[in-house]
Amino acid sequence: MDSPWDYPDFDAHELVHFVTDRKSGLRAVIAVHSTHLGPGAGGTRFWHYAKTGDAIADVLRLSRGMSYKNAMAGLPLGGGKAVILADADRTKAADMFAAFGRAVDGLGGRYVTAEDVGINVADMVEISRQTRFVAGLPVAEGAVGGDPGPHTSYGVFLGVKAAVKRALGKDSLSGLHIALQGAGSVAGGFARRAAREGARLSIADIDAARAQALAGEVGGVVVAPDVIMTLEADVLSPNALGAILNEQSIAALNVPIVAGGANNQLATRADGDRVQARGILYAPDYVINAGGIINVSTEYVGDGDQAKVRERVEAIPGRLEEIWAESAATGVTPAEVADAMARKLIGRG
Ligand code: NAD
Repeated sequence: MDSPWDYPDFDAHELVHFVTDRKSGLRAVIAVHSTHLGPGAGGTRFWHYAKTGDAIADVLRLSRGMSYKNAMAGLPLGGGKAVILADADRTKAADMFAAFGRAVDGLGGRYVTAEDVGINVADMVEISRQTRFVAGLPVAEGAVGGDPGPHTSYGVFLGVKAAVKRALGKDSLSGLHIALQGAGSVAGGFARRAAREGARLSIADIDAARAQALAGEVGGVVVAPDVIMTLEADVLSPNALGAILNEQSIAALNVPIVAGGANNQLATRADGDRVQARGILYAPDYVINAGGIINVSTEYVGDGDQAKVRERVEAIPGRLEEIWAESAATGVTPAEVADAMARKLIGRG
């Protein structure tokens, strides 16, 4: 690869900033895809990449994804992302995060950061000592901010209900069987709400104790991780990993609906077509899982209280319905309809 222009995921990104700090050993890349709707916002990933090129590809792809996600959530934010290239032991140091914070600050607010894979709240606090262009910091009880998980769960719950209404014509999850992949933060919040409405849950997690604890709490049953994707159920809700929908797994699905919070569920674009060809209703992941970023945005921009966050999350089902209606009218997959809507919103239609 000669330059960022040659990367398949390069999409006229507005800014690709390479950061080196010899003293702390920091190497990072910050990418801003679009600031059409506001500052390019998206988390920082702390990851060991086998090749530097993998880090660049990741930051280009993820920052474009944030443009789409923020636009479709109706937020006054553009899309950005950062990756810090960790060593094989993923060694962290305060001076490394300080140097990264100075780099974010140097961009003058064109990029706003938050947590992503490998970055915790303590790291974010370290970064925030150098820059105010940070979200996802601890907040006082009752204030907007903190853990985005519960907000993501609420949006997923509303999105699953919308899918059930569209595909099965039912107003409630009562009596429906939901196959839940993952028993973590997003899955847990969704499961509690679904169970309260009378859904029957089968739960799988590679952490068996976690699956058991959640099943005990919501009256569900634990199933093996390699079985959950083929279970006969009304809904498969993926809330663990990405790239779980591929040629083999789609052929084995036994559900009319796939709707959950996991990022990047479709392994490839063609897998969106495969899901569609099987007559399965799919909720585009970055639309249904936007509750967390809605909370982060409201905290950062300071344009609302907890009631406003709730109201914004409650707009997710309407957006999904719009996507499904257009998909049904045109035959284009929901994922591609969502991408096209997002591109229009960021002025690249
Ligand atoms: P989490 O770490 O709390 O939970 C993930 C769970 O998935 C863990 O319990 C893990 O053991 C389990 N898991 C991993 N591999 C698995 C497998 N092969 N089969 C079954 N279970 C497996 O994470 P989370 O915050 O709940 O996030 C879940 C998903 O939702 C991720 O894809 C994340 O990117 C996405 N997401 C999260 C948020 C948020 O606000 N937390 C927002 C948007 C998207």
